[in-house]
Amino acid sequence: AKAEGRGTYRFFEAAMGEQMRDRRRLEHELRFAIAKQELSLVYQPQARTNSREIVGFEALVRWHHEERGPVPPSVFIPIAEEYGLILQIGEWVLRQACKEAARWERPLSVAVNVSTAQLHSPNFVRITREILMQTGLPPSRLELEITETALIRDPGRALIALRQLKELGVRIAMDDFGTGYSSLTNLLAFPFDKIKIDGSFIKSVHVNRHAATIVRAVLGLGHGLELPVLAEGVETEEELAFLCAESCQEAQGYLLGKPQAIEKYLHVTTDRSAE
Ligand code: C2E
Ligand code: CA
Ligand code: CA
Ligand code: CA
Repeated sequence: AKAEGRGTYRFFEAAMGEQMRDRRRLEHELRFAIAKQELSLVYQPQARTNSREIVGFEALVRWHHEERGPVPPSVFIPIAEEYGLILQIGEWVLRQACKEAARWERPLSVAVNVSTAQLHSPNFVRITREILMQTGLPPSRLELEITETALIRDPGRALIALRQLKELGVRIAMDDFGTGYSSLTNLLAFPFDKIKIDGSFIKSVHVNRHAATIVRAVLGLGHGLELPVLAEGVETEEELAFLCAESCQEAQGYLLGKPQAIEKYLHVTTDRSAE
């Protein structure tokens, strides 16, 4: 049994080594992804629950590797964070999203994900201001999505950054609410404009009555704090009906539209004067 145990360990070690090498290779290739124009953005609609009217879109980054094909963000974003590439990628995403949104036929809002390192970077507020000026996107159309996890590295710094971003006129949404290091005090201590309930709760609403209780509690919190609530990951009519009945204002999910090229949803002007 001892020998077998050692063999298993060696096999495990080899598999780990392989995984490490694969991450290293991906990291190396990711360094060139921007220059090689392998990154792009897709957009997922955010809609009112009662009328299904689209009020904005969340920008989601995609990496199409020349040989591997599409690499999901759940794989390459953590690698980018680990190896210090997220600042560069995050800046590209923000600039591209603002540039593209400035050309939409309708002045809908665009939501952009901000990672921990970006929020804590001393240049982030300045970069955001410059991007808004350069692209001509009105700050009121930009919403930055920030997870609670991103606040805890240095809450004091995070608060300063969020206040400065609010002064620019952009809105701040708390992303993935209810997962990770959730704390109700975060809603009071930081200047959020919106709560996004994580999709995992919505998925369980008709399976597990405790999930429904949690969603109702978050909606109650939102109403009490006068913060609009958006439900993520809405996939079925039943889920949307539940959210409507519970006065959740907005929803996002496959039922209302998958992340796709913006042209699937909107006409885009070809005016390039903003560049
Ligand atoms: P997220 O910010 O929570 O984004 C929502 C994710 O849920 C997206 O996955 C979206 O495609 C997926 N989704 C939307 N509707 C549904 C649904 O009805 N059902 C299910 N099962 N899933 C749905 P995606 O695009 O693979 O992105 C995964 C995560 O990667 C994002 O989670 C976000 O944390 C990160 N990410 C994506 N783009 C960026 C980016 O530009 N910057 C940063 N920092 N992170 C990003
Ligand atoms: Ca998000
Ligand atoms: Ca989310
Ligand atoms: Ca998420």
